[in-house]
Amino acid sequence: MGQTIYLDHAATTKTSPQVVEAMLPYFTDYYGNPSSIYSAGSAAKGAVMKARETIAATLGVKTNEIYFTAGGSEADNWALVAAAEAYESKGKHIITSKIEHHAVLHTCAYLEKRGFEVTYVNVDENGILKLEELKHAIRPDTILISVMFANNEIGTVQPIKEIGAIARERGILFHTDAVQAYGHMPIRAEEMNIDMLSASGHKFYGPKGIGFLYIRTGLKLRSFLHGGQQERGRRAGTENVPGIVGIGKAAELAAERMEENEKKERALRDYLTDRIEKEIPYCRLNGDRERRLSNNVNFSFRFVEGESLLIMLDMKGICASSGSACTSGSLDPSHVLLAVGLPHEIAHGSLRLTVGAENTREEMDRTVEAIKEIVGKLREMSPLYEDFIKKNVP
Ligand SMILES: *Cc1c(COP(=O)(O)O)cnc(C)c1O
Repeated sequence: MGQTIYLDHAATTKTSPQVVEAMLPYFTDYYGNPSSIYSAGSAAKGAVMKARETIAATLGVKTNEIYFTAGGSEADNWALVAAAEAYESKGKHIITSKIEHHAVLHTCAYLEKRGFEVTYVNVDENGILKLEELKHAIRPDTILISVMFANNEIGTVQPIKEIGAIARERGILFHTDAVQAYGHMPIRAEEMNIDMLSASGHKFYGPKGIGFLYIRTGLKLRSFLHGGQQERGRRAGTENVPGIVGIGKAAELAAERMEENEKKERALRDYLTDRIEKEIPYCRLNGDRERRLSNNVNFSFRFVEGESLLIMLDMKGICASSGSACTSGSLDPSHVLLAVGLPHEIAHGSLRLTVGAENTREEMDRTVEAIKEIVGKLREMSPLYEDFIKKNVP
């Protein structure tokens, strides 16, 4: 992308060249159907098996607990709907948080239409789930708790192990949308009391349209797609072999490079955060400073319209986001920023920058300079800012 500065890694990442290289032969040479008997088929079958093993190892779970899906949204939909249906004879109450991705929130809304009751637990002003409120929300008919591992907008990392323990003690299933966390930070499903976990390839340098759902042995969830016996009968359809090979390779590379990447990202993140806070007045860092993804920066700038800021950054070749890709284009401010208590007008002036290990400090400098200039220009045009300055600056 030439001179562009890509700072939207929470929306998607570039497929790593090694991943593409690993995938290519499965389009052209080993294109056989994994269900076939002949050797071109068994080569594909072996590759699918290997990817499943790699991913299972990264989570410390059994190979046959990993089910490939067509991405994170599918994994979330499957987990929630199937768990609701499987356990509805026990109860029809589900608990989640107010800051989930729409793949979870809209699936919950669908379940509400189908007669389930959903409690949306609050987060504190930093975006961390209120554990006491979660405990109080639990009822005898609660069958499922779903809380995301890390938030895609403000980067907050939730106390997953504690939430899992609360669920397990009470015999309630626990699902976590780990799409932003998987491949970026260590996750041990067993130790963290996780029953189901969703992840997506394109969020950690793998291909788009491939993800997986971890389902702990013993959960009697219905199949997601009915048909052939693929994915042990639970998700029919000829396997996306190149995609599976790709997500397997991406998982392997992510595990190898995790510490190094985290360190690089954290340095860039902190540098960017520091400079913005010091050099641009009337801004607020959203999300928790400590319990935060190593790549996430999210600021609100008062007297600035987020969409204008994004468009002007784009003109300078900088790719950023105003929150989640799904909400841009609509005029509603982000549900996550509202949940942490921002008033509408401040939530509207928000900017998310998510760095990657390949970004450089020089790019951070150019980005800060661009934001300074644009925020200054936008404020000059704002009558609200003019009023504010008249009243507050002597
Ligand atoms: C991107 C994302 C998803 C959706 O994943 P897809 O593979 O794009 O369907 C779900 N949850 C979170 C937290 C995400 O960031």
